[in-house]
Amino acid sequence: MRMRAMNSAFALFSAVLFGASASPASASDHAASPGDDDDCSTSYASIDQDFPTGAFDACETSGNRRFTLTMAPEDDGDINCSAWYAFRVTPQRRTRITIDLEYETCGHRYWPKTSTDGVNWTVMPRNRVEIDGERGERTARIVLRVRDEPVFVAAQEILPPSVYDAWLDGHEDRPFVTRSLLGHSAENRDIEMMRIAQPGGAQRETIVLAGRQHPPEVTGAFAMFAFVDTIMGDSDLAAAYRARFETLVVPLINPDGVVHGHWRHNTGGVDLNRDWGPFTQPETALMGGLLDAVETDPARDLRVLIDFHSTNRDVFYTIPDDLPTDPALFTRDWLARYQERMPDYEVNRDARHAVGRPISKAYAFDRYGAPGITFEIGDETDRALIQRIGREAATAMMATMLETPVIAEAAE
Ligand SMILES: [Zn+2]
Repeated sequence: MRMRAMNSAFALFSAVLFGASASPASASDHAASPGDDDDCSTSYASIDQDFPTGAFDACETSGNRRFTLTMAPEDDGDINCSAWYAFRVTPQRRTRITIDLEYETCGHRYWPKTSTDGVNWTVMPRNRVEIDGERGERTARIVLRVRDEPVFVAAQEILPPSVYDAWLDGHEDRPFVTRSLLGHSAENRDIEMMRIAQPGGAQRETIVLAGRQHPPEVTGAFAMFAFVDTIMGDSDLAAAYRARFETLVVPLINPDGVVHGHWRHNTGGVDLNRDWGPFTQPETALMGGLLDAVETDPARDLRVLIDFHSTNRDVFYTIPDDLPTDPALFTRDWLARYQERMPDYEVNRDARHAVGRPISKAYAFDRYGAPGITFEIGDETDRALIQRIGREAATAMMATMLETPVIAEAAE
C-alpha cells in the first residue's frame, strides 16, 4: 500500500530528515544526542538513528547482511507499550538485508513502514515481515531490499516538529488564523498555538483541540490535521462556526518526546496525559494555564476539549451522558450526527468517568463542566479513512455546536 503525503506540511519533511533544510525548524528538530551507531555498520549497509524521531537502543551485526536492533523505552518508569522505533538504512551496495527487531519490554507493536523521501510511505508487504512470539515477547524480522539511497524504517510515518511548523506556516496568512507561541517544552522547544476565529467577531465560546501528548500517536495527528483543516475550510458551515466560536489548537504538546523517539513520556519521565491537574511538567502547565485563562476571562467560556490520540482501534473516550455537561449532551449529539455522516463505518464510544483522574478529558469536565473527549485513532487505520474521519467529525462538531444555545452575556 502506498501512502501519499496528506497535506502540504510534508513538503519540508524530506529535506529536514536528510539534514539539508534551511528551515529554522530543523534546529528544534535536532535530537540532543547523536547516539552511538558505530557498531551498526557492515560493508553492505549501515543503520543510524541520527534524525528527529530516530530511536533504537542497541544494534548488533552478524555477517554483512544481518542486523539486530533492540528497542527500549525512554526511562525506567511505568510505561505504556507503544514500542516506537525509527531508523535509517544506508546501503553501500544493492542488496537484501535482514533486520531483527527485538524489545527489552512490551514486544513488537507497530507494523513497519518505509520511505526514501520522508514524504511518501509504504506499509511493508506481508511477505517481508515475520512476527514471532506473543504479546510482551513479540519480535519482528524484516527483509529489506536496498538500492542506492537511504531508506527510513519506522513504526509509523515520521512526523517531527518541522511538519507542524510547515502546517502552521501554510495557514497563518488566513484572515481568521492567529499563530502564537504558547510556551516552551522542558528542552526549550516551541509549543505553538493556532487561534481560529472570524476577525471582528465577539466570540465568547472556546473549543480547545490538543494533540501529540504521546509521541508515537501519529494517526491521531493525521485526524487532527484533517479536523482542523475542515474548521478552516470554505464551507458556509465553517464560516458560521468561526463567526460564533473561537478554536484554540495546540497540535504538538510533547515536542521533546517526539524528537527523541519516546514511547510515551516527556523528558521529565512523565506521561503528560496523567498530569492534568497536578501540572508538574512545563508542557502540561501550559495547557492548564491556557484553560484557566479562557475560563477566568469574563468574555470567554470553555465549551469543549478534544484531545487527539492513537490506540489499537478507532474509539472516543468520553464523559457518560448521565453526567451533566455544559453544553448539555454535546457528546451524544455530536457522535450521533457524525455516525449519520459515516453510514458505512461504526463509531465506537467508551463513556466512563473517574473523578479526579489527571487526564485531559476528565480534567475539562471536573474543573469546568465541559465535555472532554479523547479522540483515538487506530494505529493501522487506513490513512485515507483517517482523512474522512477528521473531516466528518469536524463537520458534525461544528453543526452540533451551532445548535447549542448561545450563552448569555456575563452580568456586569
Ligand atoms: Zn495517547
